[in-house]
Amino acid sequence: MIPLAEAQERVLAGCAVLDEAAVAVGDARGLVTTETVVAPEVVPPFDNTAMDGFAVRSADVADAPVTLAIVGTVAAGVPPDVTVGAGQAARIMTGAVIPPGADAVIMVELTETSPDGAEVTVAQSVPEGNHIRRAGEDLAVGQTVFGPGEVLTPGHLGVLTSLGMYRAKVRPKARVGVMSTGDELVEGPQPLQRGQIRDSNRHTLLALLAEAGCEPVDLGRTPDDESEIAAGIRAGIEQCDALLTSGGVSMGDYDYVKKVLDEIGDMSWMQVAIKPAKPLAFGLVEGIPVFGLPGNPVSSMVSFELFARPGLRKMMGHPPDAWHRRPVAGRAAEPLRRRPDGKTHFARVRVEYADGRYEARSAGGQGSHQLSAMAAADALAVLADGEGLALGDAVSLLLLR
Ligand code: AMP
Ligand code: MG
Repeated sequence: MIPLAEAQERVLAGCAVLDEAAVAVGDARGLVTTETVVAPEVVPPFDNTAMDGFAVRSADVADAPVTLAIVGTVAAGVPPDVTVGAGQAARIMTGAVIPPGADAVIMVELTETSPDGAEVTVAQSVPEGNHIRRAGEDLAVGQTVFGPGEVLTPGHLGVLTSLGMYRAKVRPKARVGVMSTGDELVEGPQPLQRGQIRDSNRHTLLALLAEAGCEPVDLGRTPDDESEIAAGIRAGIEQCDALLTSGGVSMGDYDYVKKVLDEIGDMSWMQVAIKPAKPLAFGLVEGIPVFGLPGNPVSSMVSFELFARPGLRKMMGHPPDAWHRRPVAGRAAEPLRRRPDGKTHFARVRVEYADGRYEARSAGGQGSHQLSAMAAADALAVLADGEGLALGDAVSLLLLR
């Protein structure tokens, strides 16, 4: 068996960062930028009002209350067609251009308009610049908006479009194929024949990929047949940046995924000192990373979490400190027992945040076939080799959500 960190290093070494691409902002959320974005224009583009109210001369209202003559209205979206002279005010709406002559805005709540609409009485004095948002106050021309390596959030995409930029240079989404293998696998609601099970890993893995920000590609199911497995993998690497296979990588007579990958790829077979997910096949087939994940449903998910997700995040340009989930410190809210076996265990736990700390409890049956506990789990609790944890012990948690 090899330590987890060594297996993870081997995987990461085989995952090359994808070439940059320009994508529409609508497709860019969650992707990592490769460019320094510099503002080509000012934001806001002109001095405008932050409030609905009246544009005034601050000197005119210094001795408020005062009454001013209303000379017109300035709406958002059009240039002002009035000038504010001494003793005058213009009605103005949020976002509208400050009209010439005015140097302050007084909000409508502090004013009273005469019944004929000709005059306004201003209740308070306001300083020069009151409620005026200056041109360039958000971004000046030539200002760096953000640099490379930034994960694009909705806010970043808003900033880009506020500058008239509708494409971003990024590391693209990894297109990742998923193929499940096994003669026992069937799909659909029909009653199972004895010996059959329904294929769940393919659907789990496709969803995990989508959640990890990748583009999942469903390559279907393949029986335990050497030539069909080889054909499926070849078809997958032609259209994908990486591949996940499920099943057929252990020690059984019909574990052909292992055999096929050995023939067509440059593979490492690892027995990793972890439970679940001890067997892992990883390597390159024509330069494409292929993850041969174990068939047991919980193992396949944990293996994805510990190996595939970090590798794929590296490919998509995330920085090294964001490849793995960062462990958070918690406390065992019940004993989390295990037996010494030379492996690190990843127990499926439910986590509650109470009194300023994470409290972990078992999420249910810990067998690698017991997917319901994995589904219920909020986190994987890292249990070092030994007897496990007693109530109240500190525990390191990998939060899954
Ligand atoms: P294998 O890795 O092929 O030896 O499979 C290990 C266990 O996982 C066996 O009990 C399989 O029936 C089960 N298994 C394999 N593939 C899947 C799948 N796609 N969905 C659910 N269970 C699976
Ligand atoms: Mg099998």
